[in-house]
Amino acid sequence: MKTFCGRANPTTGSMEWLEEGEDYDYHQEIARSRYADMLHDKDRNVKYYQGIRAAVSRVKERGEKAIVLDIGTGTGLLSMMAASAGADFCYAIEVFKPMANAAVKIVEKNGFSDKIKVINKHSTEVTVGPDGDMQCRANILVTELFDTELIGEGALPTYEHAHKYLVQEGCEAVPHRATVYVQLVESRRMWSWKKLFPIRVEAEDGEKILVPPSEMENCPGVPSVCDIQLNQMPSSDFSTLSDVVTMFSVDFSKPVQSASTYYRVQLEPVKSGKAQIVLSWWDIDMDPSGLINCTMAPYWVKPTSALQWRDHWMQCVYFLPREEPVLQGEKLYLTACRDEYSVWYNLQKARAAEEEHKADVGVESPVCRCRAHLLWNRPRFGELNDQNRTLQYIKALGKVLKTDSVCLCISDGSLLPVLAHYLGAKQVQCMQSSRIDLYHPHELWQAFLKANHLEDKIKIIEARPELLKPSHLEDKKISVLVGEPFFTTSLLPWHNLYFWYARTAVSTHLARNVTVLPQSASLHMMVVEFQDLWRIRSPCGTCEGFDVQTMDDMIKDSLNFRESKEAEPHPLWEYPCKSLSEPREVLTFDFTKTVPEHCLSTEGSVELLRKGKSHGAVLWMEYHLTADISVSTGLMQLPNEKGNCEWNPHCKQAVYFFSSVIESEILSDPTAVTYAINFDTKTGEIAMDFKL
Ligand code: SAH
Repeated sequence: MKTFCGRANPTTGSMEWLEEGEDYDYHQEIARSRYADMLHDKDRNVKYYQGIRAAVSRVKERGEKAIVLDIGTGTGLLSMMAASAGADFCYAIEVFKPMANAAVKIVEKNGFSDKIKVINKHSTEVTVGPDGDMQCRANILVTELFDTELIGEGALPTYEHAHKYLVQEGCEAVPHRATVYVQLVESRRMWSWKKLFPIRVEAEDGEKILVPPSEMENCPGVPSVCDIQLNQMPSSDFSTLSDVVTMFSVDFSKPVQSASTYYRVQLEPVKSGKAQIVLSWWDIDMDPSGLINCTMAPYWVKPTSALQWRDHWMQCVYFLPREEPVLQGEKLYLTACRDEYSVWYNLQKARAAEEEHKADVGVESPVCRCRAHLLWNRPRFGELNDQNRTLQYIKALGKVLKTDSVCLCISDGSLLPVLAHYLGAKQVQCMQSSRIDLYHPHELWQAFLKANHLEDKIKIIEARPELLKPSHLEDKKISVLVGEPFFTTSLLPWHNLYFWYARTAVSTHLARNVTVLPQSASLHMMVVEFQDLWRIRSPCGTCEGFDVQTMDDMIKDSLNFRESKEAEPHPLWEYPCKSLSEPREVLTFDFTKTVPEHCLSTEGSVELLRKGKSHGAVLWMEYHLTADISVSTGLMQLPNEKGNCEWNPHCKQAVYFFSSVIESEILSDPTAVTYAINFDTKTGEIAMDFKL
């Protein structure tokens, strides 16, 4: 069987559908899965084990047989815990076939085949009865079906069904309950992920202020969850306006309702300020007493000694529909609305809320009306709101623009054309071709230009670079070609080199003395030791005494299947690391020339300056706007003496994990790392190889 996989082509900036073998999807799923991370989550594993032991004991004390239903067994871990704790029989349900197969192997290897039956089905397809998948209903329900938002992986409908058809009334559940907590905060940094702030430009004829269109001001945004490693957000970047409040809980031992509903709590701000953001996390009590608790609370809420790093469960950032000024001690109501899979929030002053209560609460999920939230994701909003960054572009544009400049901008949803206009370019055009058919960027652009009375000043060209005609440019040649560059289809840092391909495609339209901004780009590389991120690719061996090496081997196979010698994107501001080598510029790309026919490659070695575990290499791009102005999408400054790094907060960097992490070989301290890096100009991809 073949499947089609969407992949952006960095030479065309377009999504392409590639035919892949059946295995491709599954290897992707395994290679990029969070199974390894879950198995490394000691706190989670220990508490599940304690909770399962306690539940089995309670059932046994009642003189009953302990029959366990483990929904979403994955490696079979929780069923093996139950069997070890004395459960009489376990039904381990797993919908994902490769995982169900792995569970069978792991269960067998650990000697539990007679106690655990692995069933490769979705739980809602499981049958009970003498000829069914399960002989009888279970009296212990064990699951781990939670995501950062708790319910995003479908826990509620799964529980609802299980209580109706698969477990006995009054069953034990591990976890027993989940509780969702919230805290109201003001944070310019996080608010800048949702809203475009006015942008100030000092032009020769005075200050100009670029404002977003009104539709954007009042737009509720998109419902997708914003999950981050909140522990990496310094306390100076937000201000808490309320105490931590319990928003809602779910008792998993009783029938669960998945239908849409809402929960409302009263709040009194502890401080006056602008309510913008609701931070949220949850905890699970593994037993009814609440003594076995596994919490995702961030650092300011719990002692650092209790912090367990994990990537499969983080914290949520919810954006209120609009900013609300609040006063200390004032009465407020916070409403959490949810459907089966997602949660969103509303804040109201007491009086408005009481009036509304009489009517009915609006439980419609947020839908972006302004289109900006479809075109720009949250980090992109943050990037566009970054005044320092904008200032670099303004300075650079100021250097290259002249009053007779004919300027063309190639970048997705970029504000550069407006900046170029304010800074005095005679004619400004921007290319807004829909390379992705999901939305129409030109409509957002039109609204944007209208809000700033620039409709007749900036021309939108709805064509792809290779289809550009002299008539699009009013028969003029381009004297300044600009780009950030930024393209929505880019996954890895070098995919924005699509700008170079577009520049090549429009070559015949460029004036002989054209200025290209950025004039060049460079690829940078540094060897690092991660504080925690290494865990997601590192083998686990045994987990709470159970041999899960089969899983390790499976992940290794999948990593080697296709993605070998490839890097993966991670936003490193969320994943601290220590630099072990100097940062090294490894390749440069000259935008004043066209993309060459031949590949660009380099080889070399970097010395390791600091002691530490070489987990991998980080790669990022820097854009040289002019000879003396550069912007970095990776390292923001040189690492300090200890090797601590500050990363661009808006961008993902590329991480290449060394095979020693994947194989868990113990290496005697290497002193240098050799590398070979190749940019294939035909595909726009970079392949790399490292040796320790
Ligand atoms: N229980 C394991 C794995 C948890 S990951 C552990 O704790 O380590 C969740 C797993 O549940 C995934 O493998 C997913 O494929 C599976 N899953 C999710 N919902 C399911 C459902 N309703 N029926 C069967 N499997 C499900």
